[in-house]
Amino acid sequence: MASNDCDTIIVGQGLAGSALAWKLAAAGQRVCVIDDGHATSSSAVAAGLINPLAGLRFTRRPEVGAWLGAADHWYTELTHSFGRTFFHALPMLRLFRSVEQQRFHERRLKDPASRELLGSAFDADHCPEPITAPFGGFNQHRTGYVDLPLLMGELRGWLRQHQHLVEHVLEPTEVEPGKNTVSVAGVRAQRLVFCDGARLRANPWFDDLPLAPEKGEILNLKTGDWQPHHIINGAYWLVPLENGEVRFGATHRHSQIDNRITEAGRTELVDAFHSLHPGLPHVHVVRQQAGIRPGTVDRYPLIGQHPAHPCLWAFNGFGARGALVIPWYAQRLADHLQHGTALPAEADIRRFS
Ligand SMILES: Cc1cc2nc3c(=O)[nH]c(=O)nc-3n(C[C@H](O)[C@H](O)[C@H](O)COP(=O)(O)OP(=O)(O)OC[C@H]3O[C@@H](n4cnc5c(N)ncnc54)[C@H](O)[C@@H]3O)c2cc1C
Repeated sequence: MASNDCDTIIVGQGLAGSALAWKLAAAGQRVCVIDDGHATSSSAVAAGLINPLAGLRFTRRPEVGAWLGAADHWYTELTHSFGRTFFHALPMLRLFRSVEQQRFHERRLKDPASRELLGSAFDADHCPEPITAPFGGFNQHRTGYVDLPLLMGELRGWLRQHQHLVEHVLEPTEVEPGKNTVSVAGVRAQRLVFCDGARLRANPWFDDLPLAPEKGEILNLKTGDWQPHHIINGAYWLVPLENGEVRFGATHRHSQIDNRITEAGRTELVDAFHSLHPGLPHVHVVRQQAGIRPGTVDRYPLIGQHPAHPCLWAFNGFGARGALVIPWYAQRLADHLQHGTALPAEADIRRFS
């Protein structure tokens, strides 16, 4: 091998590319990560919420136990490696938006697998935080958030230190896939994995995959004397940070999908915050950010090999729950590349072929 050869080239140092690089390096592979300085990174914007009962019906997906276990394991491993805390366990208040949602909660209580995630319900007059919750809500367990900006920074430092990082804006036309190797930016490898987030839409090697991107805006707020003790999750969510600020989000847009912050997004979020907590007329917006969730039509990831170019792979489509699911799927893809174990069928891109 030439000195700049490696086993796997990864395009994108978001949470997906970073996790895959970590797992492959742990298995003894030589990895090379190409990234453009997080120019369009959704990981750098995300709140990093871990919520095992997402959605309006609080459905527990069958894979949730495995996802939670892998996430716990990986974030703990990273804490030991870097001496920093990335995952913050925090209880979550789920606010009902309707009577119908109260019934979904009652139904979930009858399911033994969901029960471990569901705490007690409360009505509008007994919400544990001083907020408006007209339909009440319930306490949810096994929740928290991952400090993704801190984690992305530490992992970038690790890649740089081991000379695994190439800072470069990759043009897809630079990629030259052969039968057994692929070359790009002066590096040759056995394979190249695109972990390019929402930019997959404009990536001619995989642009036929059904990505369903969604723009989101998010605010950091100073809320004066009120420092909540819970993550709050209703029509919007709120995460109390260690520095006394809260993160509040998020908007959901399916058109005009770009990374630009907007006045309309800021107004929507500030109004929503005031509806949640009318007793706090003065909140200070510290920061506004926008990003694109790399969602998919069936809400499962897009993982697999290019049908015509076996050296090219996709690891993408983590939607709005990358912090929970990426650690598990990164291990599955690393195992598949190393040992040929099967990819999880629900995430394999061959489901669309
Ligand atoms: C407002 C908002 C809130 C969110 N909140 C949460 C949440 O609470 N919990 C949660 O789990 N998820 C949340 N998400 C979703 C989360 O961000 C994603 O699931 C996850 O971060 C996706 O990671 P990724 O690595 O696939 O993509 P990205 O983080 O987008 O990483 C892709 C990387 O590749 C780089 N790149 C792309 N193309 C190229 C190229 N050609 N050359 C070089 N570099 C390239 C990009 O610049 C970027 O650094 C949220 C997203 C948004 C927008």
